[in-house]
Amino acid sequence: MNYSKILNQIELELKEFPNNGKVASYIPELSKVDPEKFGIHLYCISGSNHSFGNSTERFSIQSISKVFGLTLAMQLLGDSLWKRMDVEPSGNAYNSLFQLERENGIPRNPFINSGALVISDILISEYENPKDEILKFVRRISGKPTIDFDEKVAQSEKQHGHRNTALANLMKSFGNIKNEINQVLDVYFYQCSLAMSCEELAKAFMLYANEGTLLESNEQLLQPIKVQRINALMQTCGFYDEAGEFAFRVGLPGKSGVGGGIVAVHPEKYSAAVWSPKLNQKGNSLLGMEALERLTTKTGLSIF
Ligand code: GLN
Repeated sequence: MNYSKILNQIELELKEFPNNGKVASYIPELSKVDPEKFGIHLYCISGSNHSFGNSTERFSIQSISKVFGLTLAMQLLGDSLWKRMDVEPSGNAYNSLFQLERENGIPRNPFINSGALVISDILISEYENPKDEILKFVRRISGKPTIDFDEKVAQSEKQHGHRNTALANLMKSFGNIKNEINQVLDVYFYQCSLAMSCEELAKAFMLYANEGTLLESNEQLLQPIKVQRINALMQTCGFYDEAGEFAFRVGLPGKSGVGGGIVAVHPEKYSAAVWSPKLNQKGNSLLGMEALERLTTKTGLSIF
């Protein structure tokens, strides 16, 4: 497969693409990004790398980080984790409250905000210093010790995180948050503020494309069954109320964030990260989805 040629074609084609998406502004710090940034990085299991555009520039990965939080919680708790949240697509926006009320404070899945807040709560209960553990894990799987939280983004979200505060309080009223609300929000906001490039994300997500084994060192970090489950959740819940659309158009497990990043994995073939900050109405990168759709169409490879 000539991935470089395919990426060149996609880059050329998308120069003409009418991108009428909008940069997220409900976290004010995120609205400062240049909306025209666009980059992609493809990391193949053979070890070859292909990219174009702003693929080495770090951006706010936001909800993509929920995959890392989930991985740590699965390692810590095993199956008892699923008493605290479900594994069903929500069919609702990532920050929706009403389903949570109806379902007694049990989030539909770990990739909507309520689910990720429960994961933060678990990490606080299990680790002495959860933020350090998140950083340690991400640095390890990406091989980049310089990856860090973006303090400004974390503070900006803290000041405007009214919905997340509401979600955490609602779950606390049902007994599904054990620690102090402010502590839980703090871990959640810092996790969301992680800044990474497409290149670093593609490398980190190779863990999920390579059955839980780090490609370069051949070290098995995660059991294959856990990776299969995480990929299943990315497939069914990674794009909120657009998970069906992503499966239909792209056909890969993946996860998006409101910073405009999307990472998708083709198990045993590659991981691909794309960044374009302008979002569609469901909060997913408009150009990012388009680029990944063209990638799976042109390669003719899909998991289905
Ligand atoms: N930090 C964001 C929030 O809680 C993450 C949302 C997202 O990326 N979908 O609203």
